[in-house]
Amino acid sequence: MAEQPLLLIDGSQGEGGGQVLRTSLSLSALTGRPFHLFNIRANRSKPGLRPQHLTAVHAAAALCQAQLRGDKLNSVSLEFHPQTPPQSGTYRFDVQDAASHGSAGAVTLIFQTILWPLLFAAAPSQVTLRGGTHVPFSPPYHYLAEVARPAFARLGALFTLNLTAWGWNPGGGGEVTAVITPTTHLRAADFDHVPVQQVQGVAAVSNLPAHIPNRMAHRAHNLLREKGLRTNIQEIRARGLTPGAGIFLWLPQAGFSSLGRKGLPADKVAETAVAQLAAFMDNNVAVDHYLADQLLLPLALAHGTATYTTDALTQHTLTNAQLLRQWLDVDIHIQGDLDHPATITVTGIDFGGD
Ligand code: ATP
Repeated sequence: MAEQPLLLIDGSQGEGGGQVLRTSLSLSALTGRPFHLFNIRANRSKPGLRPQHLTAVHAAAALCQAQLRGDKLNSVSLEFHPQTPPQSGTYRFDVQDAASHGSAGAVTLIFQTILWPLLFAAAPSQVTLRGGTHVPFSPPYHYLAEVARPAFARLGALFTLNLTAWGWNPGGGGEVTAVITPTTHLRAADFDHVPVQQVQGVAAVSNLPAHIPNRMAHRAHNLLREKGLRTNIQEIRARGLTPGAGIFLWLPQAGFSSLGRKGLPADKVAETAVAQLAAFMDNNVAVDHYLADQLLLPLALAHGTATYTTDALTQHTLTNAQLLRQWLDVDIHIQGDLDHPATITVTGIDFGGD
């Protein structure tokens, strides 16, 4: 593979967090273009590559035999040189391998890093990821499975997911398996406001008594019924390495998560998730602010133009958009102010198209 010019990326741009790394890994593995990322996660309290990020680096590198420089824990500089196009196969990655002690690094973020290159590989891939499945500041497994997956499927990105063990913070130890169906191109799709009929959800614990999921589910059900909404909230006591509790609610294009902790009553955990849902519904928009940023990369690769509205324009979305413009000749138009509802229009590059 002839080497393309090295792309220099400043990791402190915009939000200066882990997404600058993950988007760069996906696009480098996909396009074959090498990059040098410096100032990695410069705006975070513990800058550099944390276990989740280092696992994402090694996972992306495994797909395209990338040569690496700086792939160490806490490193603030990384060079990534792909040697082959992304290869389909059977892959297994565990965030523990990158940590000096236990880590609950989010497997959903690692999945989203390798999904896009594996989608454009020649054959299906089987992936097993171990680490955190329901941890703060990342999509919980149920968000990936119930909100992001159907949205990506509308663009032609198809995969199945299975949660075989729950991994809470701290400790992790969860496991997700996935089968990715390859494609040759993605297509743009608009996302419109979907009127809400029913709220779906799970209220779950590991290594804690059954009355906790029961109380979370009931409190959420009662609050949502007061708002005239029907619910279908499953109560789960699940296998997990460490204790954990949380409630995960979803609508067709939005998800709301609230994690428990010692001393926080189950009712309060449920109230937090319902309050997020109510705030989202007040805006009558199409997708939540997490999906708004997670749709940018696939839409940038897709054929055609897509538009959607979201409840809040985040620094995360602005940063991801800016970075995508550095990598690809993509047109992303954002109308709205930070932390307020916004309309986003993306015209993709038709990656893989003729
Ligand atoms: P850091 O920001 O510390 O570098 P990071 O690499 O873990 O950490 P971010 O760069 O902040 O993470 O990216 C987090 C990603 O997780 C974003 O795509 C965001 O949309 C998504 N996300 C965060 N919280 C949720 C949530 N509750 N539901 C769905 N998605 C979420």
